[in-house]
Amino acid sequence: MPNELEERAQRWRALQTQMPEGVRLLAVSKGHPAAPVRELAELGQVDFGESRVQDALPKQEQLADLVQIRWHFIGRLQANKVRPVVRAFAVIHSVDSLALAQRMDRIAAEEGVIPEAFLQVKMRPDPAKGGWDPQALTDAWPQLQALPHVRFTGLMTMAPLGCSQEQRSALFADCRTLADRLGLRECSMGMSGDWPEAAAAGATWVRVGSGLFGARPGVVNFPA
Ligand SMILES: *Cc1c(COP(=O)(O)O)cnc(C)c1O
Repeated sequence: MPNELEERAQRWRALQTQMPEGVRLLAVSKGHPAAPVRELAELGQVDFGESRVQDALPKQEQLADLVQIRWHFIGRLQANKVRPVVRAFAVIHSVDSLALAQRMDRIAAEEGVIPEAFLQVKMRPDPAKGGWDPQALTDAWPQLQALPHVRFTGLMTMAPLGCSQEQRSALFADCRTLADRLGLRECSMGMSGDWPEAAAAGATWVRVGSGLFGARPGVVNFPA
């Protein structure tokens, strides 16, 4: 166990040194227990990502003493999970429709919070994933921006499986361009397998799970 701990710490330090200026590391802890999250938090990692609210809540409870942790929700967001997600997460990366955004706005008002949120966008057709079509997002942007209880700061995207490195780089660059056009600062893009391309293309957040924590035990695997 001490070895595993030291290896994880080394991976975290290596990633932190590799991050270009302006790119932040989101540690994706889904599928892993609270103990390694605590270790990384004690090293100085602040931002952690989870994709299922029912897995995240017990973990958050076990780590409640670490008040500095900022929890990010990165999973597909179902309408009936908006309230627990708004309550338990500071940043939500996966807002993928106007109806969901409006619901989040209403619930955030009821809960007395203003979550930071990213709009998940599908830069290429991909039946396996949720997300806005770029044109539909551009059309809805005035309505989204007018919602008073959600603070949209960026876009989130994922490359479809099977893309080449060149295709991924082009897709990430297109996402950056769209974010700039909408006046959004943040781009959450890139995972263990492709974060360097995403960072080079203008990501401000990269979401790294297995490249930091190791392989996920059990069944929770991408795209969870
Ligand atoms: C699981 C997950 C990640 C992390 O994936 P790794 O390949 O383990 O780095 C990033 N983003 C989302 C949306 C995920 O669901």
